[in-house]
Amino acid sequence: MLLFNSLARAKEPFALPTGRPVTLYVCGVTPYDTTHMGHARTYLVFDVLVRYLRWQGAEVRYCQNVTDVDDPLFERAKRDGVGWQELAERQVAQYQEDCRGLNILPPTYFPRASEEIGAMLPIIERLIELGHAYVADGNVYFSVRTDPDFGKMARMGYDELLATANQRGNDPGDPRKRDPLDFVLWQTGKPDDPTWESPWGLGRPGWHIECSAMATRYLGDQVDIHGGGADLIFPHHPCEIAQTEPVTGKRPFVRVWMHAGLVWLDGEKMSKSLGNLVFARDALREHGPDPLRWYLLSQHYREEFDYRREAVAQYVALALQLRQAAGARGTEGAPLDLSRAHAEFSAAMAEDLNTPAALAVLHTMIGDTLAAAAEGRDVTNASATVRDLATMLGFTLSA
Ligand SMILES: [Zn+2]
Repeated sequence: MLLFNSLARAKEPFALPTGRPVTLYVCGVTPYDTTHMGHARTYLVFDVLVRYLRWQGAEVRYCQNVTDVDDPLFERAKRDGVGWQELAERQVAQYQEDCRGLNILPPTYFPRASEEIGAMLPIIERLIELGHAYVADGNVYFSVRTDPDFGKMARMGYDELLATANQRGNDPGDPRKRDPLDFVLWQTGKPDDPTWESPWGLGRPGWHIECSAMATRYLGDQVDIHGGGADLIFPHHPCEIAQTEPVTGKRPFVRVWMHAGLVWLDGEKMSKSLGNLVFARDALREHGPDPLRWYLLSQHYREEFDYRREAVAQYVALALQLRQAAGARGTEGAPLDLSRAHAEFSAAMAEDLNTPAALAVLHTMIGDTLAAAAEGRDVTNASATVRDLATMLGFTLSA
């Protein structure tokens, strides 16, 4: 199969490993708010990837973290006058419920950053020893000048890298930094923020180091596929590469970097600040899991998705036909042969998870199966094929 690797900016062959599982790490949620359609799309795309790999016979070891050491969580907890752990607990439970509703399979490992601090400290210590990081006033920073390839995935010059990092939480004015693009590995944090013991005093980790620690702890020094939303192409994922490879001594840290395009709403970027979020649970309640899944997979995962509420309705009828074709009976007459369509479906999926093309083939198969069943033909194999492919794509086939 071919997968688009964001680091190479090209589709590359991905061979299933022999004698070991495929390892997959997907950056998880910060549990302070409700699952919106951007989250739903990203985790649904990786759910289809996992199902597709398993469908081909691979064992998949899938780690998805919970970013429960992060500013937005602490700020929200303070604003609402609740403990950050209590808020995180509640939001993680809600997120899991939303995933179950969307028929997204749970990951093999679901670690929380707050419980993995012990795995982060040795990586930071080693980066200091190697000269890639420095201590200033209880904070530890990664020195981007020590990595000539820093930020390569983003394909940007220094000024653009810095501007992008600044939009996404970087503090360029921090006087302790040697370079405004240096990123924090350990920080003293704001007063009232939770802290942990470290060789540099009480503090907490930076966001990027959390994922390096959890990915290597659960999946090993090298990971087959690492994914997330397209907003992680910079700075989060390049920071992970920069801080992981010198410590493990193994390159590449990740064989394939996969990113799901961001979700828009009616032509506007869906964001908390614009207040135009669509929540997964509302859409689920309104449409059910199968129409929503079909809609979200109807565009290629790397493209940005413009979510339109009125567009979901047409997928309700499709999901109903899918269910009917999957349950079609009819054992007289010439059997319907879907083997050619099956091959086309497989070829589409093998081409960087081309779900729009695969769904177009499935749509034809559904029509053919229902027509043949209406004519009284034998659709035993055809409906079994439809069921198999639909289940592989994660459809529940329930009303
Ligand atoms: Zn991450």
